[in-house]
Amino acid sequence: MKLLFSRLPHPLIKSQWLIAILTLYFGFVLNLSFWRFIATNLEIDGGRMALFAISLFIVNGVLFGWIFCLTVIKPIAKWLIIPFLLVSSVTNYLMWNLGVFIDADMIRNAVQTNVHEATDLITLSGCLWFLLSGIIPAILFARVRILYRPFARELLSRLLYIGVGAGVVAGFAATSYKEYVSFFRNHDQANKLVNTINYTYGIERYFHEEAQARRVFVWLDRDAHRLASARHDRHTVLIFIIGETARAANFSLQGYERDTNPRLAKENIIYFKNMTSCGTATATSLPCMFSSGGRQHFNANDAKFTQNLLDLLGAGGYDLLWQENDGGCKDVCDRAATEDMVVIGNSQYCAADYCRDDVLVNGLKSKLSAVGKDTVIFLHTMGSHGPSYYQRYPEQFKKFTPTCDTADIQNCPRQAIINTYDNTILYTDYIISSVIDLAKEFPDLKTGVMYVSDHGESLGENNVYLHGLPYAIAPEEQTHVPFLLWMSEAMKKDSRIDYACLASKEGQAFSHDNIFHSLLGLLDVTSTLYQPDKDIFRSCRTNGGHD
Ligand SMILES: [Zn+2]
Repeated sequence: MKLLFSRLPHPLIKSQWLIAILTLYFGFVLNLSFWRFIATNLEIDGGRMALFAISLFIVNGVLFGWIFCLTVIKPIAKWLIIPFLLVSSVTNYLMWNLGVFIDADMIRNAVQTNVHEATDLITLSGCLWFLLSGIIPAILFARVRILYRPFARELLSRLLYIGVGAGVVAGFAATSYKEYVSFFRNHDQANKLVNTINYTYGIERYFHEEAQARRVFVWLDRDAHRLASARHDRHTVLIFIIGETARAANFSLQGYERDTNPRLAKENIIYFKNMTSCGTATATSLPCMFSSGGRQHFNANDAKFTQNLLDLLGAGGYDLLWQENDGGCKDVCDRAATEDMVVIGNSQYCAADYCRDDVLVNGLKSKLSAVGKDTVIFLHTMGSHGPSYYQRYPEQFKKFTPTCDTADIQNCPRQAIINTYDNTILYTDYIISSVIDLAKEFPDLKTGVMYVSDHGESLGENNVYLHGLPYAIAPEEQTHVPFLLWMSEAMKKDSRIDYACLASKEGQAFSHDNIFHSLLGLLDVTSTLYQPDKDIFRSCRTNGGHD
């Protein structure tokens, strides 16, 4: 065997050709399942989709080309690439023949599998596949002698390739951004088929999750409590509505030319016009607004294991009730009573995997009737969650037309997407005002309603759609969010709030950072974490706030 191996030819190959061959082999041969997925799920029904399909091939080639520009380097090329080649051959087989998608859960399955389960996967066709697409190419690669150019020329040509590639990717981002975000948002499992990246990322996530599972919970303040002087005969009920993907720009309260807030316009609310979100996606903004440190110190991994606003309100003696209708509270409500609307499944408002937000209003009256203690109710709405905006509201809220009644928003004209989004805002206007109207039905409670959205949304400005761009480069549409407040006369009186003073702050700049401290202040919970300068109520309390 050793003799045979040493007698194999020892071909010479120029480094740039090797990079090209590796790019094609990894990008296409070892990624058969990804391309099968694209062929099955991509509907080419016009020029834009055809351009998107072509761009997928080219961008894929550019990305793998970059990887090999960085790894085909004299001392490490073979040692680094051959193991990936062998593993990718196996994962390619599993994905192609067994329909496997590779992510952290699949890595966990593999780690926890037993010998019997593993040997079941070893079949004749599997061995043949591994031999042809893994072992033989690996031997060929091991045998080649790579001919590098002089260092400076090699470096320059690779930098040139990387630069030109970046230009090509940027060009396609400009022409096909909508198609990219829409396709990969609707088919997020496609990423789990991109060979080498899927298992590399999956393994990283697996170890990360294992490490997270061993973390200890951090109590920042074990001594939070309620000011004794703040207790009154009537029970306080604050209803905190967390919006989803609502951007300030499309609220008529903000100045939007379309009448998207006809109901709220009639309520005695305070609408804060200058509120910015902590992040551009739920996973950041939601835990961030309930954390003590604010955006500058926020870390989503740490937040899961750190005492948050709900913990402090609970310590202050409040009953907490989290009503979930947006696919999860990102661990914010882990230690509070929680009801998940989709799990409960009210057939009037719910489809198989989502509910319209009136499901939250529907259950609220009985909850308010049952209040026997000071309470904070969190309503986590689905709001304007995209790209399926059309599923967020019932027929009677289809006021702005024509609409885009599909999740494949790349098939709709921009104006139809905006119309559909505006209908979700009109519906959100109805949801918030319905909650306020319900609160008014309970004059024996000190009720207040606060609403803030988690982040905004891009609707085609500069050809950008949806949300989630890195904060530093995110457009204002993704970070400027609606924030409003309504208070019953009882709450204004007992909490000594000068409503006119608050109204005078409508134009002042606030951010999600203010939520934590403002709710502690308003609800009279004393904590070492409280920062009075971030409490928007403090200067509007007639007896002064607490410190
Ligand atoms: Zn969100």
